Formats: sequence, structure tokens, C-alpha cells
Amino acid sequence: MSTQPFDCIIAGAGAAGMLGALVAARDGLRIVLIERDWDGPSNLLVSGGLFPAAGSLYQHAAGIEDSPAIWAADIRAKAAGDANDAIVDAVAETSPLVATFLSESLGIALHLAATVPAPGHRVPRLHATEKESGRELHALLRARIEGEPNIVVIENADVRGLLIEADVVRGMVVREQGVAHELRAGAVLLATGGFAANRTLLAEFVPTMADAIHIGAGRNDGCAIEWGRALGAGVALMNGYQGQGHVTPGGRTRLGMGLPLLGAFMVNRMGERFVREDFGPSELGQYVLAQPGGVALEVFDQRCHDAAMRQGPYQEAWRAGGVFSAMDLDALAQAAGITADALQASFQQVERARNGELADSLGRTRFGPSLAAPFYAGWVTGALAHTQGGLAVDRHARVCRDDGTPIAGLYAAGGAAASLAGHGGEGYLPGNGLGQSFGLAMLAARSIHGLR
Ligand SMILES: Cc1cc2nc3c(=O)[nH]c(=O)nc-3n(C[C@H](O)[C@H](O)[C@H](O)COP(=O)(O)OP(=O)(O)OC[C@H]3O[C@@H](n4cnc5c(N)ncnc54)[C@H](O)[C@@H]3O)c2cc1C
Repeated sequence: MSTQPFDCIIAGAGAAGMLGALVAARDGLRIVLIERDWDGPSNLLVSGGLFPAAGSLYQHAAGIEDSPAIWAADIRAKAAGDANDAIVDAVAETSPLVATFLSESLGIALHLAATVPAPGHRVPRLHATEKESGRELHALLRARIEGEPNIVVIENADVRGLLIEADVVRGMVVREQGVAHELRAGAVLLATGGFAANRTLLAEFVPTMADAIHIGAGRNDGCAIEWGRALGAGVALMNGYQGQGHVTPGGRTRLGMGLPLLGAFMVNRMGERFVREDFGPSELGQYVLAQPGGVALEVFDQRCHDAAMRQGPYQEAWRAGGVFSAMDLDALAQAAGITADALQASFQQVERARNGELADSLGRTRFGPSLAAPFYAGWVTGALAHTQGGLAVDRHARVCRDDGTPIAGLYAAGGAAASLAGHGGEGYLPGNGLGQSFGLAMLAARSIHGLR
């Protein structure tokens, strides 16, 4: 039995930190959860709040056949040889347990988010709360944290590093109201996010996106990677990232990843198509950025708009005036300030390929139904959402050295840990972010429980 005041210290109260704290606390562990900016945004808060659960009760109720093995196969297909085999299967197997924990243990109502398709998933498997927004999921988890007797929260305190004695992790060094002090526990979980806000690390590992708008939370400074490396931890997938090709210019919100599969197409300022739009949102980012002005017009119709309104980020874009409509394509072109003839030609190109009259010259294969007036459109740009590289962990979320041996008492999940797949933006399958964060956090909590 531990004589420490806490069984585990968790740094960061975002997706991984909150889920890990709640699982551990419900298993009877005493947790201290430290958050640098309690009222500020985390990546969870700005996310779409869509997370994969393969073989969930919700899929079963909808008659959808799925399993962890099928999700793992989709991750590996998208990663084209760069999946993180150390954790993919374990995270996939944990995913339905996460959904059950959220709904049955925490009483958070979930549903299968199937109105808007997710590129790269062969069946609907992303789940969400009612509003399909990260903001809502974040608020619901915060409410559970605040009512949990086994969790002590230290708000607005900065974890400054690991407390190491004789090469063993004993806790964390925390700075609270300007004063640094030590906190001890049997284990620590690093859940401080990735390094997308650290321009130096970006320039080293993801130079192609180092100058792109970063739409994630500003706290992603890569601190956990620095602490782990100082202890001899390995890192993996450092050049992996999630890009976003549907971001409204300025980066405040986005139109949503599913529009192309609903039927949308994209043109540049000259009205010309430039990419197979059915790519995932991640790789689309760099193609949009490469266009004049780094922008593109995403064109769709009423049916697509109605479906997209199911999701929180699109609703925000709509409310912010990021989407406009017109009764026909010529009027839409005029409103967008592009040539009507060019837009018409692009539209015809897509419709003919959609109808099977000719192969798409850009290689698009998934089109969705035909578009019909009235038309909708929004300007989008490419952006960096979050990084995928991080500390190497095993299937228990234990941080490992380069030789694969775990560092006793040190765990990582979410952006602090290497994700499910790299490299570049192409390897990211939607849902990999929260899927890994929740899955590894649960695996860490269960492993730490086993240490008692
Ligand atoms: C725009 C956007 C949309 C996304 N949409 C989706 C989606 O729909 N589905 C999906 O699966 N993934 C999505 N993701 C990815 C997902 O949000 C992340 O994978 C996930 O939130 C990572 O969890 P985390 O706990 O590592 O980081 P976060 O959720 O960012 O939490 C980290 C927390 O640690 C705190 N912190 C940092 N440093 C310290 C420190 N030194 N001391 C104390 N606290 C600290 C931060 O303030 C923050 O609260 C999206 C990401 C972005 C940016």
C-alpha cells in the first residue's frame, strides 16, 4: 500500500488529463490534477469533440458492424506503413470501454455522430455529445472532475518539471502563485499536450507547417517532451501532424471535415479545382495553403449545409458569417469575386465525374450526391491543428527509453505521447487525436492502479 499522499499526479486537465483522472479516481486512486490555465482553452475545448469507439453499444444499436481490429486496420491503411504499432491495437481495444465509461460511469449522454461522414473510416465510428463540439465535452468532463472526491485540482499552477531522485521519478515540481514546490506520488502522468505552439520544435520537426496558422490551444509548448528526453526517454513520429484544410481565414473556426464526402468541391481564386477534395482534412491543409493567397472556396449546397449544421464548429462558422449562399452558381461566383465561367466549368467537371461520365482528372473517387441550387460556399485556408509526435510509450502508456524499456512511474497520453500514426499530415485519420488521448489515459490509469 502506498504511503504517498497521492497515487498519481497528472499534469494538464485537457482530454487525456481529465479522462485519466476520472478513470483512476473511480478505481479508488487518489489523484492530484494540475492545470496551468483552468479557464483557458485546451485542444479538447477547441476540438470537434468527435472520438472513435470501435464496436460500441451505439454502433451495435445502429446495426453497424465494427471492431477494434477494423479501426486498427483503418488507422494502418491511412498511415501507409507509419502506424505506431506499440499502441494502435491497445488503444483500439480500449475505445469501446472509454465510450461505456463516459456514458455509464460518468452519465455523459453520447451518440454516434453519423450525419457528417468522416473520411478514412469505413463505417461510422466517431461518437460525440449532443452538440458535437469539444467545448461541450470539455465542460461535461470539467463538471465531473469538480464533483469527484478522489481528485484534488490545483488550478492555474504550472508544472515545471519532474522530481527525480537517484534517477527515479518521484513526482513533479509545481509553480503556484510564483512559488515552486515539490509534489510526490507513486506515478505521474504527462498530459500537457503536444508542441504545435513551439516554433523552435516545429522548425526542427515539422518545417512545412512551421509558418502555418496554429488553430490549437496556445499551451502546446512541448514541455513534456523536453522533460522526458532529459530522462532518456525516446520520441516517435516527430514529423507527424494534423493539418486542417477547412479552416475559415484567420483561423477562428472551420467548416468541417465531412463536406467533400457530402458533395462539396473546392476552387482557388481563379475558380479552378486544384485537389481531390475527398482527401482527409489533414492532408488537404497543405494543398489549400499552396494556392494563391493560401485560400480556397469550398462550394456545396443546401443539403450539405443542413447536414454540416449538426456539428459545433460549422455552426460557429455559420454564425460568424463564414458561409454565404446564392440562388445559382453565377450569383455565388459574383459574391465570391471569382469568374462565373471558371466556377461553372469546375462544377461541370465534378458533376460529370460524379455521374461516371469521365474519370476525375485530380483523382477524386468519392463524390457524394449531386449538388443543386441554392448553393453555399465559404472561404477556407490551411492550418496546423496539432502535432502527432511525442514521447514513446508502450501499450500501458508507460514512457519508454529508446531501447523500449519503461521508465518506472512515468506515463504519458494525448499530445505529450507519440500518436497512433505519422508521418506528415497524410497519416492522420480523423479521431486519432482524441482516440489516442482517451485510450492511453485509460490504459495509464489502469496500469497505475495495478501498481498499488
Ligand atoms: C482545432 C482542433 C480540432 C480537433 N478536433 C478533433 C476531433 O474532432 N476529434 C479528435 O479525435 N481530435 C481532435 N483534435 C485533437 C484533440 O483535440 C487532441 O488530440 C487532444 O485534445 C489532445 O489531448 P491532450 O490532453 O494531450 O491536450 P489538451 O486537450 O490540449 O490538454 C492539455 C492541457 O494541459 C495544460 N498544460 C500544458 N502545459 C502545462 C503545464 N506545464 N502545467 C500544467 N498544465 C499544463 C493545458 O493548459 C491544457 O489544458 C482537434 C484538435 C484541434 C486543435
